[in-house]
Amino acid sequence: MWELDADLVALSVIFSWHAPLAREIALRMKNRAEVWCGGPGMFALASWWRKETCLETVRGLDDRFDKQRGRYDMTFASRGCPVNCSFCIVPRLEGTHFTFDPDFIPAPKLCDNNLSALPADYQDHIIERYRAYHQPLVDANSGFEPRYFTEETYQRWKPLLDETRAYWRFALDETRELEDVRCMMTILKEVSPSRKRVYCLVGNEPIQACYERAMKIIEWGGEPFCQFLLPLNWLGDAKKVKSRYDWTSYQQGRDFCRYFNRYGWRSYPIWHYQNRKNEPPPFAFLCPKTWQG
Ligand code: SF4
Repeated sequence: MWELDADLVALSVIFSWHAPLAREIALRMKNRAEVWCGGPGMFALASWWRKETCLETVRGLDDRFDKQRGRYDMTFASRGCPVNCSFCIVPRLEGTHFTFDPDFIPAPKLCDNNLSALPADYQDHIIERYRAYHQPLVDANSGFEPRYFTEETYQRWKPLLDETRAYWRFALDETRELEDVRCMMTILKEVSPSRKRVYCLVGNEPIQACYERAMKIIEWGGEPFCQFLLPLNWLGDAKKVKSRYDWTSYQQGRDFCRYFNRYGWRSYPIWHYQNRKNEPPPFAFLCPKTWQG
């Protein structure tokens, strides 16, 4: 790449921990080419980028590219999300009101943030467009928000998702969402657990609460996909992740996620989980015998 005689280098950074690599490219190329840099990973790194490269980032959605028509692997039919979860970049990047792109070109992966909260007629429009383009929907990547999910939502999306056996994706990120998720699980009761992929944020509540959320997902017939909470400006240094509540380190959070994401829960309880032979099981204290004294 360094040999290319480029006039322009456009960097799109999806995750903030890829920003150091973008910096390396920018520093090597900026005397030979114009450098643009943007993407969600750069949203909270504007001052860092300026300090490191003496360049500016493009913050938020970039109108020059956002509605670029073509056949891509991923697409958005809407942007924004009204739920405004404190830990999520979407409301900051795309706004707390939906904006619509009714002329979107359907693609295998639909990345809209919150399909169930969209107006019903716009959900119908998205599905009709997939039908008109004969485009299978392989993954509704951000999925559905339980608070807005109804039997009607299920019946609306079921034929499209069933065709490809796509996941029903939703989230149980905070304890206060338990009841909404339980209701959604009831609506989805006939769907096999392996098709109910439930994001489960970890590190944002005490360990016991995160554990109980993940186990509720399993108990109600889904499969948890755990993600440890990271700051929006995280550059990839594990030591710089501040632990909250009784979490002691980023490594501990990763271990917790690994146990669930690699299906350890199918074979043994988390208090028997041991990722490194020379260290004690990191979650032995979650054994009911331990915490009941
Ligand atoms: S519902 Fe999902 S997309 Fe919307 S703010 Fe919360 S986490 Fe973000």
